[in-house]
Amino acid sequence: MRFLSETTALTRLSAIRDGFRQRVVSEYELRAKDCSTCETQGVCCTDEHFVNVRITQLEAAAIKCVIDNLDVRQKQAVRERVNAASEKISSGTEFFACPLYVKGTGCLVHDQAKPMPCIFHACYESRDDLPPEELLDDAEAAVADLNTKTYGVGTMLPIPTALANTLRTNSNAADGRRAPSSDRASERK
Ligand code: SF4
Ligand code: SF4
Repeated sequence: MRFLSETTALTRLSAIRDGFRQRVVSEYELRAKDCSTCETQGVCCTDEHFVNVRITQLEAAAIKCVIDNLDVRQKQAVRERVNAASEKISSGTEFFACPLYVKGTGCLVHDQAKPMPCIFHACYESRDDLPPEELLDDAEAAVADLNTKTYGVGTMLPIPTALANTLRTNSNAADGRRAPSSDRASERK
């Protein structure tokens, strides 16, 4: 099987996400509560018993692109939150506050790399206004298929675990490319 390059896959992921968001926002979210008026803004991202979002390796790669463009201080803070949450998950808990949420800013990946369940989620007064689960299922299936075509495997992991793996892999790859030390000159919701 010939795999897609990660760059191509990220472009396709972005198109899937945009189409999905467009449908959720235009057909359903207009009946949802406005997050800017929420008395518990961000609780949907920080409540450990609520978040439980799982993502593919490809989505983690998309999130990493956003993290890479943060300033050094923000980048370090996200890495620390990711590592702390993933260690907690490794030690046996399935609950986590999302390391991508920043008070006062909201979701760091809102525009470019928001996972499908997060785009899907909103607070509705009536159950009748909720988007159908099949809409999310179809979008997640499309992402899983793209992920398999890119990496050949399709495990979905909690956000912190998937991100910690991706950040570690990329950091190891960077270390592998580095010259031997003696040759180194120097480094909404
Ligand atoms: S989605 Fe989150 S921020 Fe928005 S209204 Fe619901 S709990 Fe509040
Ligand atoms: S990815 Fe963004 S929207 Fe989703 S739980 Fe994390 S901070 Fe919230």
